[in-house]
Amino acid sequence: MSVDDFFSHDYASARALFLAAAAESGLAVVSHPHALSGPNGEALALDLVTLCPDRSAPCRAERVFVALSATHGVEGFVGAAAQVAWLKKQYWKKVPAGISVLLLHAVNPHGFAWLRRVTEDNIDLNRNFADFSKPLPRKPAYEELAAAICPKTWTPESVTAADAILAAFAERHGQRALNRAIMGGQFTHADGVFYGGTKASWSRETVMKILTSYCSAAKHVAILDFHTGLGAFGNGASYCVGDEGSASVTKAHDVWGDDAQVMAAAPGSGVHDGYNLTGIARLMSQTCVYGNTLEFGTYPTDEMMRAVRADNWLHLHGDHGSPQGRAIKAEMKRVFYPEASEDWKARVLARSLSVWERGIAGLAQL
Ligand SMILES: [Zn+2]
Repeated sequence: MSVDDFFSHDYASARALFLAAAAESGLAVVSHPHALSGPNGEALALDLVTLCPDRSAPCRAERVFVALSATHGVEGFVGAAAQVAWLKKQYWKKVPAGISVLLLHAVNPHGFAWLRRVTEDNIDLNRNFADFSKPLPRKPAYEELAAAICPKTWTPESVTAADAILAAFAERHGQRALNRAIMGGQFTHADGVFYGGTKASWSRETVMKILTSYCSAAKHVAILDFHTGLGAFGNGASYCVGDEGSASVTKAHDVWGDDAQVMAAAPGSGVHDGYNLTGIARLMSQTCVYGNTLEFGTYPTDEMMRAVRADNWLHLHGDHGSPQGRAIKAEMKRVFYPEASEDWKARVLARSLSVWERGIAGLAQL
């Protein structure tokens, strides 16, 4: 099998490959259909494959391993390839007794199909797991820069003018502060980027429905969430983010190994507002949740950021069918998925399966 047996060109072929690999394995598939369709009219769904220790439902395992793909839709190619490889290379036959495994293919199917990071309602799913019963945090730096981050027109002149405002902010406060202002998540501008929403999205609700149903007897749940777009080309950094003192951070190295980078924050500090894995840990409070965000580098951050801003403009104000619209979509795919690089694909797949296997071994040893 070559690396191209696992990677796909678009959402529809990724879905077909995943369903075929599941059928070959004889594992159970449950599809959660999405109400909308893709750019070519294709059906969208979150497809779930389950491996239960006794192969019968309901799963009553005390240890559950979960692999998520496409939390940020367009970033879904790597996670989906890892899921397909895990099935086709028959890793599932080596899962230790007592552990069940859930593969959630295309957590955000709309974003995957439309080559967007966000969901159908322009929500960043990795900012949407906030506690909406409490007042949402204000992000004054984002509010100050909102018009420059997402200008209403997208021409070379308007982008140059907007970028100058952002550069001036970076000059005053530093590049890190600018990145945090844009990417830190915000809850006030539904037409902006990195928007967390004001209520749970379809994707959040569906993920939680699946987890509460299949993890009802679980004491330990390890979740591997695949991302792309930040870091050095082909490098896979593993981040375990959570509240200080929580199992997510105190046991992170036991589960995921020494190379996992632990990022703990004081509960309620707002540092991780809306992150999916910290939100899941909060919502599944009776269970120890060990989240791992595996992030693969592609191209420089400013290229990624400009592509995301252009894509936001396109969906609000532009025309998908125009040459400009097609160029913006091609750039979105390029910055999140260097499809033409065999080396990139081979490296990210090898790292994905290695972290996955380490997580299952770690879970078994707890
Ligand atoms: Zn991401």
